[in-house]
Parts: sequence; C-alpha cells; structure tokens
Amino acid sequence: MEIFDRAAQGLVMNEPLIFERSVPGRFAFSLPGEPDNAEACVQVIPDKFRRKTRPLLPEVNEVELVRHYTRLSQWNYGIDTGPYPLGSCTMKHNPRINEAVARLEGFTAGHPYHPELWLQGSLNLMFALETFLGEISGLPGVTLQPAAGAHGEFTGVRIMRRALLQRDGNPRSQMIVPDTAHGTNPATCAMNGYSVVHVASNDKGIVDADSIVALMTDDVAGIMITNPNTLGLFEEQLPAIAAIVHAKGGYVYGDGANLNSLLGRARPGDLGVDIMHFNLHKTFSTPHGGGGPGAGPVGVTEALERFLPVPRIRKAVKDGGETYYLEMNNADSIGRIKAFFGNFGMLVRAYAYIRELGPDGLKQVTDMAVLNANYVLAGLRDTYHVPYDRLCMHECVVTDKYLHKVGVKTMDVAKRLIDYGFHPPTVYFPLCVAGALMIEPTETESKQSLDEFVEAMLTVAKESLENPELLLTAPHRTRVSRMDEVRAARQMELRFQSKPE
Ligand SMILES: *Cc1c(COP(=O)(O)O)cnc(C)c1O
Repeated sequence: MEIFDRAAQGLVMNEPLIFERSVPGRFAFSLPGEPDNAEACVQVIPDKFRRKTRPLLPEVNEVELVRHYTRLSQWNYGIDTGPYPLGSCTMKHNPRINEAVARLEGFTAGHPYHPELWLQGSLNLMFALETFLGEISGLPGVTLQPAAGAHGEFTGVRIMRRALLQRDGNPRSQMIVPDTAHGTNPATCAMNGYSVVHVASNDKGIVDADSIVALMTDDVAGIMITNPNTLGLFEEQLPAIAAIVHAKGGYVYGDGANLNSLLGRARPGDLGVDIMHFNLHKTFSTPHGGGGPGAGPVGVTEALERFLPVPRIRKAVKDGGETYYLEMNNADSIGRIKAFFGNFGMLVRAYAYIRELGPDGLKQVTDMAVLNANYVLAGLRDTYHVPYDRLCMHECVVTDKYLHKVGVKTMDVAKRLIDYGFHPPTVYFPLCVAGALMIEPTETESKQSLDEFVEAMLTVAKESLENPELLLTAPHRTRVSRMDEVRAARQMELRFQSKPE
C-alpha cells in the first residue's frame, strides 16, 4: 500500500514558522481611506484603553499571513480530509444541507429575549424535536438544554437524585457503573455526590444480571449503563438488570451516546431505561471535535418528567390555532441548567437530519453503522487479536497482542496509521481490554474507504514484523512526530509569545 501523500501536498516539512519570518516594518493589512484615518480611528478609543507599547506580533506581509493560516489548517486532521474511526466518538460526515438550514436567517436572527410571539417558529422546531427524540428513545419527557453528553449525564443524575430525595427523603450514596462505561459516567457520579460501585463484565463482554443482584443495595441510587457498551456489544441482559434495579427502588441511567447503533431497531425506554442522554453531535448531525458547541438532550419516563429543567416548551391549542410558550414555574424541576434554550443551532441541525431521513432513513443509518463495523472486524480478525469475537454493533475492539513479540504496541500502530492518511482509532480504551484499539468506522464511510482502512491496518501489522523500527518512530509524514501528549493537552501554547527586544 502506498504511503498516503496528503502530508506532502503543499507541506514543506521544515518550513520556518510565521514567527521566524518576522521582519520589522512589514505589515499585512491596508485600511480604507487616507493614512490619517487610521490615526483618527485610534483617537476614538479612550486613552485609558489604549496601548502604551506596541503589541509583540510577528511582522509579515499579507501573503505570508494567509499561508500561515492555510498551512495550520493542512496540519490539522478532520473528517473533511479523511476517515476518522475514533471509537465511541462517532466522527461521521454531517450532511451540509443541515448547515444551510441552521444558517437560515429566521433562525440566526432570533434572540432569546424576543417575545414568545416572535419565536413561534423556533419554539415549534424545538417542540417537534423533543417529540421526535421521545419517539426514537421511548422516553417521552425530553429537555434540549444540556450542551454536551457529559452535561446531559449531569442533568440526568441530578433528576435521579431529586426524584429519590422527594420520594424517600434520601438520595442514597452509591451508583453502579460497569467496567465498560465511558469515562464521563464515573465523573458524573462524583459531580452528583455518588461514589462508584464497579461491576465487571462477563466473558461475553456484557454485564450479567446476576452480578447486579448482590450490588444493588438500599444505598444504591441506580446504575449508569452504556448500551451498546464501549466494547461495541449490546447489553443483552439490560431488561433483567433494570428489573433488579427497579425492584430495589433505583433508577437506570442509559448512556445514549451510541444511539447510532439502535435507531429504529431498539428503544432504550422499552429496555428498562428511565433516563438517558442523546449526543446530537454524534448521532444526529452537527460537526464535533475541537470542543465546539454540541447538544446533549435528556429523555426521561413519564413519571420523571416533572423533574426536567425549566423552561419547558409547551403547546396550547386555541381557536383552532397552535401557539408555543415557555413554562417557567415548576416546583419539582431541578431548575435551570443552561442559559436560554441550549445550543439552538445544534437543535436545528438535528431537526433537519431527522426530517430528511425519516423513520426508514434513521433505521438505515443504524444498519449501515453496524454493517460497516462488522465488515472492518471481519477484515482484521485474522491479523489482530479480537478479545470478544462476536457480532459487534457500531464499533469493534481489537488489540496489539499478536505484535508483542516484536515489541510493537497499540500506540505504534496508531501512529503509523497517520502515515497512511487515517486518523487513529481510540487507543487503550475501554480500560478493561489491554492494548485496545477501538474502531468506529461509522455509517458514512463507503466500502472503498473501509477496504483502504483495513488494508492500511494489515500493512502496518506486516511492517511491524519486517521492520518494527518504522512503527516505533512513526509518524514520519507529519509536521511534528511523537510528542508528550499529556503536556501538549495540559500546557497548550496557542499564542504567539515573542520576547521583547
Ligand atoms: C461521547 C460520549 C460521552 C460524552 O459526551 P460529550 O458530548 O463528549 O460530553 C458519554 N458517553 C459515551 C459512551 C460517549 O461516547
């Protein structure tokens, strides 16, 4: 397989950075009007806000400035430049039509302080989206406010806590969390004052109902369970687990981030889940990554609906016409968890996505996501170790076990894949699998693209036997190679810092 050439396109490896090209006196802008105007503009700014010394910026001309930013975009990797099989994250293509819809002036020009009468279209859209998500999940009470999956988890467990407190006067102190949970689940428990009771998965990679019996005491608020779990496996015993939890007065929180594997095929509410979050930025369109805005709506059973955050969006039918309004007063509610209506633009995209695909289209999303993951698994099975070798859902997990004899590890495979033009899969997660590579191809990759990914994975495995050094020093085609990833994330130096002369 040929090394992918993207990195080489327009990318001079050791090109000096913009800072190093700085020459005093060069500038990259031209203001309209006479040169005096610039000075006049500056005079408008009150003296106390004016700089006393020049800012320390690189002095370059316009074309160098343009090249700098274009270059930065090329050093980046995104779904628009290649496949991104980052397990659990659902980095899929989001149809551009939804971007166009979200930019319609009627939506972008709306303001949350507008009177309700002016916001009827936006309220109508949100009301309809809540109804769709309620139908898709089997959980009829929905709030659209949370800004991300983790925020949805926080909201959901807050609701659980409040419901227990109101019913028993005691919110309980523990929460069961399986070893295949997403890292945000235990974090959510901690944020809500619950300590975590871990439960190990069985030899089929799922939670055994029997193992819940002993753990589900009167002091356990419930269980937070990801389905399909982070091994990409369906929690087959979820209804039995829910029955055990409910019998002890607890609640079942379903982490719904992997909903692209259930759409139109199974509804969490029917499986015994009481509360779940959706990741609109994973399942229902909205570009994600880079920490940009997302949306993590929460769905609950009818019994828990009164605990949802305010405001709730309500519909009134009067004189044959429908009006939508915001209900603010509700003594049972956990209160506000986000300003205004949440990240509204994400809600518009999700609405457009659901309307465009319809029930059959959504079901096809799931069928393709599951088919693609199993196709990749079938291609890798003979070369990579598969810890739980069964039909998977939307993602599959393989390990580096067969490569240990030559000293090559998961991280080296991941780094070498970059040279072939692929974003690496999620690595070393779930934690219960040593050396895991967690691959989520998503439903939007074509068969050709999946074949290329499998071929790259097989080539890398072959290289590891023939020339392990190649992997140990990869990637070779990027601006920077291996770095201290912890420090890079914790001590980001994103600003130009020049030294005063
Ligand atoms: C992504 C994800 C989350 C967290 O969602 P964010 O929107 O990133 O906060 C929670 N659980 C699972 C299983 C996920 O994949």
